[in-house]
Amino acid sequence: MKLYSTNNTALRVSFKEAVFNSMPQDKGLYMPVEIPQLDAEFIQNIEQYSLPEIAYKVASVLLKDEIPARDLKALIDDAINFEAPVVKLDEKTFVLELFHGPSLAFKDFGARFMSRVMAYFLKDGEQLLDVLVATSGDTGGAVALGFLGVPNTRVTILYPEGRVSPIQELQLTTNGQNIRAIEVKGTFDDCQTLVKQAFADDELNARFRLTSANSINISRLIPQTFYYFNTYAQLKKQGFSDVLFSVPSGNFGNIGAGLLAYKLGLPVKQFIAATNMNDTVPRFLESGVYETKPSVQTYANAMDVGAPSNWIRIMDLFNQDLEALKKVVTSYRFTDDETLAGIKEIDQKYNYVACPHTAIAYLAVEQFRKENPQDNSAAVFLSTAHACKFPDIFPAHIGAKIEIPEQVKALESKPKHAGQLGIDFNAFKEYLLSKA
Ligand SMILES: *Cc1c(COP(=O)(O)O)cnc(C)c1O
Repeated sequence: MKLYSTNNTALRVSFKEAVFNSMPQDKGLYMPVEIPQLDAEFIQNIEQYSLPEIAYKVASVLLKDEIPARDLKALIDDAINFEAPVVKLDEKTFVLELFHGPSLAFKDFGARFMSRVMAYFLKDGEQLLDVLVATSGDTGGAVALGFLGVPNTRVTILYPEGRVSPIQELQLTTNGQNIRAIEVKGTFDDCQTLVKQAFADDELNARFRLTSANSINISRLIPQTFYYFNTYAQLKKQGFSDVLFSVPSGNFGNIGAGLLAYKLGLPVKQFIAATNMNDTVPRFLESGVYETKPSVQTYANAMDVGAPSNWIRIMDLFNQDLEALKKVVTSYRFTDDETLAGIKEIDQKYNYVACPHTAIAYLAVEQFRKENPQDNSAAVFLSTAHACKFPDIFPAHIGAKIEIPEQVKALESKPKHAGQLGIDFNAFKEYLLSKA
């Protein structure tokens, strides 16, 4: 597998290089030069395969010989060691539960795969790998738990003060070992800017072997394609051929992976990018003008992204052809009031508790159906996190139904450890250098 930069289509790097660099020098994003087609026979018989089998097939077609077959199989079995159930809510409506991993969010797929790919490529005696990550909530927990105890790695997580939920904060700040957290007086975008500045800083690059764990890392995108194939397989087994996915979107990594799966040959009818009021993409699809904005805080805080980094990848997948993209992707935005109403509606209709991100994806399905009454597809909305991570949002009678998983209860007795910083890059740099 060779990769180019979205800012330089002539560039060629290996998968290993893209994984460790995370981002090209020219500040574009890495993309595969070639997007191979999965063979038609595999797609036709996909319902016969398990999630790990599908994952191996997709990864090997994409990665080619970057990781030998037996190692890749073992790596996938270790990384994707939890389920992604497709739960039926009514005749044609399904929720894909992506929160059964250790941090209770879909980012476990990306983080666990990435940490194991990095560990696989790290040779004995190589310099310590320093992972820098900005999180709006769920990335940090997934990365922390994904890398916890992985030898020869150290993770530094920046998160915006007061903007992550108590459980998210516990997952970030109670790990110890090779994981450290920094609470930043600012927004997620500020955290992301600090990380980007660090990657561009010569002195830090000379001193540390820096790598990123944000959704911009190509090794996070790849495993997120697996569950789109697996869900399609589950629905095909039940006799459906037309499938649409509604994806709650912030940095657009998740839906980017879905669209990569589509380009690899997964026959999806429609993708819906569901956002909160951080609506850069829905505005773009309406107006054709791409205009980022500072992020605003919402109930769906993991989607509070004003400048979605992965959007450029999606445009590249469609060769910058907006009309072609709009045939496959629609996008809707929802306010906090609508999100809350959505949570109540899902509870009433299906006796199902959805987190705010999930509720937005559900609302987008409803909106799409209203606008396309003739469409008969099976609709899958992605549930990206367990409801227990957002306890303050639910009305009491719904909140009371949420079961707290065991791994969360265990964190509550552990002490919080976090550094405190502002949005000044020099202070962040000082911190990194002083704690070398
Ligand atoms: C990260 C996250 C999202 C947004 O995913 P992107 O890949 O950034 O679009 C949605 N929901 C939850 C719960 C998340 O953690």
